[in-house]
Amino acid sequence: MPATPHNVIVIGSGPAGLTAAIYAARANLAPKVFEGFAAGGQLMNTTDVENYPGFAEGIMGPELMVQLRGQAERFGADLEQVDVTKVDFSARPFGVWVGDDEHRAETVIIATGATPRWLNLPGETRLRGFGVSSCATCDGFFFKDQEMVVVGGGDSAMEEALYLSRIASKVTVVHRRDAFRASQIMADRVLANDTIDVRWNAVVEDVVGQEKVSGVRVRDVKTDEVSEIPAAAMFVAIGHLPTSGLFAGQIELDDEGYIVADGSRTSVEGVFVAGDVQDKIYRQAITAAGSGCMAAIDAERWLEENRAETAPSGDAATAV
Ligand code: NAP
Repeated sequence: MPATPHNVIVIGSGPAGLTAAIYAARANLAPKVFEGFAAGGQLMNTTDVENYPGFAEGIMGPELMVQLRGQAERFGADLEQVDVTKVDFSARPFGVWVGDDEHRAETVIIATGATPRWLNLPGETRLRGFGVSSCATCDGFFFKDQEMVVVGGGDSAMEEALYLSRIASKVTVVHRRDAFRASQIMADRVLANDTIDVRWNAVVEDVVGQEKVSGVRVRDVKTDEVSEIPAAAMFVAIGHLPTSGLFAGQIELDDEGYIVADGSRTSVEGVFVAGDVQDKIYRQAITAAGSGCMAAIDAERWLEENRAETAPSGDAATAV
């Protein structure tokens, strides 16, 4: 059993986790951050980020994460690039394990994120960041006034297509069936939009292009006919997988695996959540960062209210 529980353990190191760490560190809570082996979250796989406020000229995704990490460290967050392997939220202080290494914490902030699902085609992997994307809001603008393809038939695909219809010269939604999974209202908006075409019963065979996307090769599943849709970009919107397996049975998850949250509060008092692991709507770096800030403030207030039961953590960090 480790000597003194941490005030806060943050699990995850995308914009949500690192923002939570910055706020918790500046509140003198000396947060312990388990970054995950693949630290940094989805922005590590992104090129230019032009919609994160404060960077007039844009910033590369990995560079933004380096800056956020440095900012958290500067205020005394203790970051470790390891995967958490087990948690126990059944009693306080909560248990967090990295292999056999046991840690205890009065509060936990979960910020483990989500990963977009991909089609796993060779061209898709090769051209990711060069016309292949999973985020229209992030990357649509780079292909202004050009033709674009959106893959999928759920609400995300509808949202991506509608967003892109204001930027693209033409959007083609490629869906593998003859009916959308999306809510009726979203589907109706797509079907009524003159800039959007739908290619029903079609699957993507591969993405065409050498240095950048020039088209998308699709196969009609009814006729087997293969054709190429000219496009400067392909947005894959076939769902996300929230990284929540570690918490199954410990806190409430919805039927898609997202952590059920009321603000940053989870079903377990003292366990907070931020970022994409609880967000299936916005999924932006800035909303993740904002929710990380909220989780840290909520954790701080929770500690304050439960101070009598709370043992002080190790060395306090730099003063605010
Ligand atoms: P989703 O509802 O799971 O839809 C995924 C879509 O991708 C489905 O149409 C599916 O086809 C297709 N798909 C899956 N795997 C595929 C593959 N390998 N190849 C081709 N197509 C594939 O995912 P989502 O749209 O991301 O939505 C997730 C959740 O978030 C839903 O509950 C949704 O309502 C919610 N959401 C809400 C909003 C909003 O309220 N504004 C916005 C976005 C998302 P099939 O239909 O054939 O299975």
